[in-house]
Amino acid sequence: MVNIKKNENYTIDITGMTHEGQGVGRIENFTVFTERAIVGETVEIKIIKINKSYAVGKLIKVIKPSSNRTEPFCHAFKRCGGCNLQHMSYKAQLDFKTNTVKDSLKRIGKIEDAVIHDTIGMSAESGQEGKNYRNKAQYPVGNAKDGLAVGFYAPRSHDIVDNPTCGIQNEISDRVRNIVKEFIADNGISVYDEASNRGLVRHVMTRVGFKTGEVMVVIVINGSDFPKKKAFIEALTSRINAIKSIFLNVNTQKTNVILGDENIKLYGEDTITDYIGRFRFKISPLSFFQINAVQTEVLYEKALKYADLQGSEVVFDLYCGIGTISLFLSQKAKRVYGVEVVEEAIRDAEKNAELNSVDNVEFIAGEAEKVIPELYKQGVKADVVVVDPPRKGCDEVLLDTLVKMQPERIVYVSCNPSTLARDLKYLSENGFRTVEVQPVDMFPHTTHVECVVRLDRKHS
Ligand code: SAH
Repeated sequence: MVNIKKNENYTIDITGMTHEGQGVGRIENFTVFTERAIVGETVEIKIIKINKSYAVGKLIKVIKPSSNRTEPFCHAFKRCGGCNLQHMSYKAQLDFKTNTVKDSLKRIGKIEDAVIHDTIGMSAESGQEGKNYRNKAQYPVGNAKDGLAVGFYAPRSHDIVDNPTCGIQNEISDRVRNIVKEFIADNGISVYDEASNRGLVRHVMTRVGFKTGEVMVVIVINGSDFPKKKAFIEALTSRINAIKSIFLNVNTQKTNVILGDENIKLYGEDTITDYIGRFRFKISPLSFFQINAVQTEVLYEKALKYADLQGSEVVFDLYCGIGTISLFLSQKAKRVYGVEVVEEAIRDAEKNAELNSVDNVEFIAGEAEKVIPELYKQGVKADVVVVDPPRKGCDEVLLDTLVKMQPERIVYVSCNPSTLARDLKYLSENGFRTVEVQPVDMFPHTTHVECVVRLDRKHS
């Protein structure tokens, strides 16, 4: 039995990092995880939890800092937990992400000979190295110990921390948040209490068009109306010209889901507009839209390059969401089929294709693992397949059908290196070669990393 005691302080060397960004060290060969400790550092920690196989330490003092350590730019960093890499320089964050991908592909995927590129980050010009990059904000509203709070949930809890500025949100979102908070306070409007399911205002949501600057404000309410609507609209629009649309969203359920189904327009347009590349999108309160518009374009351009289309190909875009990748592919393909399980997203995808006068795409609502085997049975085959699944990766039934269908190429877009590695292993064992992997930083200062991968069919 190792001799580690809870609530005692220890000095340890950090010799590795987990994919979640924690530093890994040892006390007498017993593994200890510590948030905000960087590989190469010597740190003083306090043990806050001991399990059978590992302990968790809280960082007390950095005794020997890493040269990659930097001062977090957001004042809320320590209390928030939304960004867990802000204590590392941006270059070190990108290296960390590249290593995460390399490690997963080698360990889980047994992929040895693919080229794994360095992670593409946000340049200083495009997003101040990943500051203020988010185009959608959702601030919870409630009463905290010190009164009205509009900000974020404290880590692993639903206690709301009041916070006027967030380092990764668009600055306009924070300004909207501040005006709404002031209006609620000045007019004594009630705010939501989770425990009793009472009180009116639950969330303030904003969406900002990155290219257009257009702003949508959505107030999520536990009720069907908002007091002093005229004055509220005036308070917002007189101070922020870019506001094009204000909605109420009704959510009276006792639930963690932020938005309800019903929207009531208070002011302006039904949608705001934004662009990815040359394509135009209309975004409504409930639409899915990529959070980081700058990096989305980088990712999609890579996907298009890896698809290597000559103009005569039939292409499948599986897990297509609102059809953004499908539209990108349509520029160079004969025909694109987009498949997505959420029906509203398919309706948006069809509208987006029309809005952009794209007529060589077709969208199908359904699960990829059901739709594709069915299409295959009917004799519809793809020359190139793009997949962009959620974190759990692709269903094996789908992969199996792709193996039978034998497209020339598969482009795999992934938000989870572990499931990506698992699926690449399967495809490698069944006739495809992983050629190139490009990690892209879509969520700077968090541990998330997106990858786009090119697989070619082996011709033996
Ligand atoms: N390619 C899109 C969206 C990717 S997110 C974009 O770049 O914007 C993953 C999408 O997969 C989500 O829209 C989700 O609704 C959808 N999805 C999840 N499971 C699915 C399944 N089994 N079949 C088809 N689509 C699915």
